[in-house]
Formats: sequence, structure tokens, C-alpha cells
Amino acid sequence: MDQFLKFDLFELAKKDSRINDFILEGSLYGIWHWDLENPEKHWMHPKLGYILEYNKEEIQKNNSWRNIINQNDLKFAIDNFKHFQNSSLETYEQIVRYTHKNGSIVHLLTKGLRLKDDNGKFIGVIGILNNVTEIKKLEAEIKKKDDFWRETLEKMDFGFQIIDNEFKYIYLNKKTEEFSKYPPGSLIRKKMTEMYPNIETTDLFHAIKKVIEKKEIEITTNEFNFPNGEIGRFNNIIQPIEQGIAIFTHEVPLKIIMKNIELKEKKDQLYKLLQQVPGALYQYRLYPDGKDCYPYVSEKFWEILELQPYNIKESSTNIFKDIHPDDLERINASIQNSINNLSVFDIKYRVVLPTKGERWIQAISQPEKMEDGSILWSGYIKDITENHQAEQELENSILRWKFALEGANDGVWDWNLITNEVYFSPQWKAMLGFKDHEITGSLTEWSTRVHPDDLKTCLEDVNNHLESKTEIYSNIHRVLCKDGTYKWILDRGKVIEKNEKGKPIRMVGTHTDLTERKKIENILIEKNKELEQFAYISSHDLQEPLNTIISFSQLLKEENLSDIGQKSIEAIESSSRRMKEFIKSLLEYSKVGTHSKKTNIDIESLIENLKKDLSDLIQKKEATIQYIGQPIHINAYEQEIIKLFQNLIVNGIKYTSDETKPLIIIDSIEHKKNYQFSIKDNGIGIDSKQFDKIFEVFQRLHRRDQYEGTGIGLSYCKKVVNLHDGKIWLESEIGKGSTFYFTIAK
Ligand code: ADP
Repeated sequence: MDQFLKFDLFELAKKDSRINDFILEGSLYGIWHWDLENPEKHWMHPKLGYILEYNKEEIQKNNSWRNIINQNDLKFAIDNFKHFQNSSLETYEQIVRYTHKNGSIVHLLTKGLRLKDDNGKFIGVIGILNNVTEIKKLEAEIKKKDDFWRETLEKMDFGFQIIDNEFKYIYLNKKTEEFSKYPPGSLIRKKMTEMYPNIETTDLFHAIKKVIEKKEIEITTNEFNFPNGEIGRFNNIIQPIEQGIAIFTHEVPLKIIMKNIELKEKKDQLYKLLQQVPGALYQYRLYPDGKDCYPYVSEKFWEILELQPYNIKESSTNIFKDIHPDDLERINASIQNSINNLSVFDIKYRVVLPTKGERWIQAISQPEKMEDGSILWSGYIKDITENHQAEQELENSILRWKFALEGANDGVWDWNLITNEVYFSPQWKAMLGFKDHEITGSLTEWSTRVHPDDLKTCLEDVNNHLESKTEIYSNIHRVLCKDGTYKWILDRGKVIEKNEKGKPIRMVGTHTDLTERKKIENILIEKNKELEQFAYISSHDLQEPLNTIISFSQLLKEENLSDIGQKSIEAIESSSRRMKEFIKSLLEYSKVGTHSKKTNIDIESLIENLKKDLSDLIQKKEATIQYIGQPIHINAYEQEIIKLFQNLIVNGIKYTSDETKPLIIIDSIEHKKNYQFSIKDNGIGIDSKQFDKIFEVFQRLHRRDQYEGTGIGLSYCKKVVNLHDGKIWLESEIGKGSTFYFTIAK
């Protein structure tokens, strides 16, 4: 082909000028020749004419190109050529603008080849030219587009950067450079890991790695610790691209961060406050079509109604099913009333809960009509069972007081704890010998009259009640009367009103004159003391002569006496021994409570010791004694408690038929305020008519020849139990055994 072009085509063209014309006409490029030695021989291919639409003459004129070249480029073209002329370059090339006949601009690409004579002298240029206006236009358009995108990226308020798979920065827009905290241009082609040495541990870097590996988009929000110590917070969209990744970054403005922190703090505060609210907050919505739900309930709802928010979010069925059937109608009426008047819904009602059973609930909420016609109540519920009971009790006790006061002429007081004003009823004043107007309504009227020795404990009792340590305030103290004497007064009271913080603000009570009762009590105490003294002294003093009788009758038994004499002596001896037993028991009975101090007693070991002490009796009667209660320690008078158990166990063994092997079962229960014990036997049993009698001194149900005994045992037991603020009682049936119960206060 090359060969053909060089020689054959050349030969052909020489022979036939049409071939030459054909090639020139068909060529994309125009050809020109400039003979430097004969400038008039300047030759320009008509192509230029076609391109610029000038006719042949206009084109072929010497130096005609100077006229049609865009005059702004003329100097450039001449300089360019001169430069070529003076250089040693073989070719030259330029794009210059020409003016089309119609005035428009045409870009022409001109290339030239240096022509030399045999001596190497520069004699001319042969060149080609082509219209590159379209290419130029295209180029300009591409550049424009390129500039547009570049400018847009630079102007963007978003950071935009391209990072290659080796973590090298390929492109960073202006905003990213601003974020970067480095001078513009300093990051480009640098490795991210070099510029930010700590970046590898950050969430952002992990996300970038993930995008590179998985080729999936990632959206992150992260904090970035810059090497200069500043901290920025950014939202990033990381997009995989061919060379690596593109990251769009948006800095979360400090304002928004602060707002978020504030919001979180507010939320935390609100949550803390909610925890302090005694009840649970809720919203209840009733739609016009009758559907209802609880769109919001606070956590405590679960504690109060045993329901989780999701149980009631869409329907109220779960709430209504737990409402006490007797209260349902009242609740519905209240809701209706609240709807009709848009008035506060405030109601106390009962629920029956799956685990807590019956509870009293108070619900208070404010209704609000919504745009869709539904009603939204916002409020709270609270468990008021305890308060309700207390209220109920107070109501009852006020009623009781009223009733009692009318009959008993007791005094009443009503104390305002805020102002310390007190209403004293005329009865109280009269009790002390004053007329109504002689005592005013101030607290000191009372406190200055209380006996100084009693005031301290009295105020302590008042305070204990005000601090809710006691259910009822109660104190007996002496109060000074008008005539200078003191009266014993039973003072009882209760707080009936508290403020919203739970601080008592009102207390009411009664004064009962106990002077007469106190007198009788004192007499009784005295008499009892005297009796005990008498029993002690007499039993103590009788022991001595009895011992003498017993020793003498033993001596006499050894004498040679007649049968009658012998029997009489034996009778004297056994009677004296019995009498000795009596006196011993009586002495013990009178000594109950005179022991010094209560001690800690382990009931299990007490019973074990008793079993040892009673081993003869147990063996003889083949008895079994079992303690089936929990290990219990009580604080009590030890000697008395031992005797108490002993008497009851011995009775259980003793009062059985000969055929029965006694089985004694001892049990215990711990109550809030006391311990309860039971001693159960399989003996002969007791007729219920005799239950009271057997606790009286010397009262026996059997003859001595049936069962030995003094009739003091159970009365001793009763005295011991009383000493420990307890009670003693029994359950029994003839022939079915008995169970004795007693309690010992804690
Ligand atoms: P005693 O010394 O007679 O046993 P107590 O005061 O202990 O005196 O008992 C009074 C009476 O109660 C007894 O005489 C007996 O009749 C009856 N009694 C006491 N304990 C029992 C018992 N566990 N089973 C049947 N009767 C009993």
C-alpha cells in the first residue's frame, strides 16, 4: 500500500490530472504551499474557499490569508511562523481563528512541513489545514461542563472527597479542605492514614474499609478528633466508586449537637421526675366511633395495674376487664360526664388484679377535644388502697368517737398544725373546771397544763404519730385543773389531713378523764401487790413447820405402832408432802415476774432440756415429745417460760388414759407482733364448758385419786403468758385430745 501511494499513485496522478484533483477534492484536509524564494507562487487549495466560502480569486491572492484570518490571531500566527522559521523544527502546528464570509468564526488547524533544498536551505513550507471548529466547540463545551461540576463541587456546603482504594486523597472539594484542618492542597495524593494517624481506630475508618470491601453504600454519623485537638461531628455518605470511594460529608452544626444534648438532658430530667411521681401518667383516647385506647402510659402503670403499655396501646379491654363489677357503672357515668362537660375526670374505684387482688385506684385526668372529634384525657392514676383504708378507718373512728363522745362526755380537740390554733371542746374545759371562755384556742393552753413529768413522753408520742410511726396517737398524762389538782387524761388523736408533700396539717383527738379509773387501777395494783406479798410470806413461812411434821412422821414410822397408828402416820406424811407441793407451787406462782431480766431463749434447746428433766415420766408413760416448728429465739423470762412449757407438757402426758401412749406435738408460728406456740396431746380431752375454769387457781376437773395435781399449773401458765403480753387458750374435745395455745409478744 505504502509502495502504491509513493510511486504508482504518484505516477498515475502525473499522467491523469483528474486523479490529482479527485484526491485533493476528497481529502478532509486542504493543502497549501508557500515558496519562500518565490512568494508569488503561494498556493492555496480551494478547500479553504469551501470552508470559508470565499471564491478562488479571493483565496489565491498573495497573502490573502492575512485578510481573512481573525485579526486577533494574526500576530500570533506570524510570530508562530517566525519562530518555526528560525528554529530547527521539522514541522509546526497551530490552531487559529479565521473569519467566515458570513462573519462567523472558524477554527482552522494548520500543520506545516519544512522544505529544504539539497544544501539544506529552508526554501518553503508545505502544509495542510482543516476545519476544527466543531472539535473546538465540543472541547469548549466539555470544558464548560467540567468547570460547571468543578465549580459546583467547590461551592457546595457539603464536603466531597474521592479516596482511592489505598486510602489516598484523589480529590477534595473546598469544604472538605476546610473540614480537614490542613492548608488547601496539602492532602492531595497523601494517604489518609498518614495525615490522620489515629484514624484507623475510628468508626469512620471502619465504615470506609467496609465500603471498599463490600462495595455497598454506608451512612454514618461520627465524631472526629482532629490532630489539633478539636472535635467535629459529621454525617457521612460513603459511596463506592470505581477508583475507591466518594464521601459526602455534612458537619452537624454545634447548634444541633447542643440541641440534641439539651433534648436528651430534658428527656432524662423528665424521666427522673416521672419516677418521683407517686402514680403513673397516662393518656386515654376515645374515638368518635367508640373505639378507645391508651396511646401513652408511663412505666409505673405496670406496678399499679399490672399492665404493660402494649397490653392497652390499641384497646382498653384489658383495663376494663379488671375493674370491680360494682364500680363499672359509676366509672362509665363519670366518663360520660367528663365528655359532656369536658370536666376533669376524678374517681376512686376498685380493681381486681391478677396477682395483687382487690386494690383501690384513684384516676384524675383532664379531657381535651381533638380535631378528629375524639377526646383525649391526660392525667395520672395512683394506688390509694392504704390511704383509702386509713380514710375509711378514720371515718369509722370519727363516727365511733362521735357516738362515744355524746355518751361519755369526752373532750374533743382539733389542732391546725400550720397555725398551732386548737379548738378545745367545752367538755374538756369543764373536765378541768374551766368555763368555755376561760381557755382560748392556742396550743399552749394545753401544753402548759400537762404535768411537767409527763410532757416529754407525751410530745414524743405526738411526734411519733406526726412522723407516721404510729397509727394513732395515744398518751395518758396528768393535766392541771383550775383548783390546782391534777387529773389523769387519756389523750388520743389522729392526723386527718396532709399537704401534697405528705406533711400533716391537721390532727383531731379526744380527752377522756381517767382519774376515777386510774384511782381504781392504783388500788388494784396495791391490792395485788399485797396479795402476792401475803402468798409469798405465808407459803414461805409454812414450809418450815411442814418440813418438821414430815421429819417427825418419818421418825414415828420407825416406832412400833399399831396398824391404825402406822396408817395415820403415812396419811399425815403424804398429806404433808402434798401440802409441800402446794406451797411450792404457790410460791412459784407468787414469784412470777419477780425475776430480774429477760433473756434470749432458744425454744428448741429449751424443749430438749425439758425432755431430759422429764425422762423418768416420759419412760414410765412411754411418751413421745416432738417439736415441729422452725428454730425460734424469743426474748423472755427464762425460768417462767421453762415452767410454762413444762406444765403444759406434763399435763399433756398426765391427762391420758392408761391405754394411750402420750404423743405431745409442739409447734410455733411467728406473727408480726408475737410468737404463737401450741402444745397438742392425744389425751382425755376437756369439755369446752370447762375451758375458762381450768385457768383459775386450785381449779381441777378430776379427783386426786384419778390424777394427781394441785390445780395451780394452768393458772401459773396464764400468769406467765400475761407477763409476756400474750394470750392463752385451748381447743379440745372429750376423748380427742387437747391443744393449748399461747402467744409471747415480740
Ligand atoms: P393440775 O395440777 O390439776 O394439773 P392444772 O391447773 O395444770 O392443775 O390443770 C387444771 C385442770 O385442767 C386439771 O386438773 C385437769 O383436769 C385439766 N387439764 C389440764 N391440762 C389438761 C390436758 N392436757 N388434758 C385434759 N385435762 C387437762
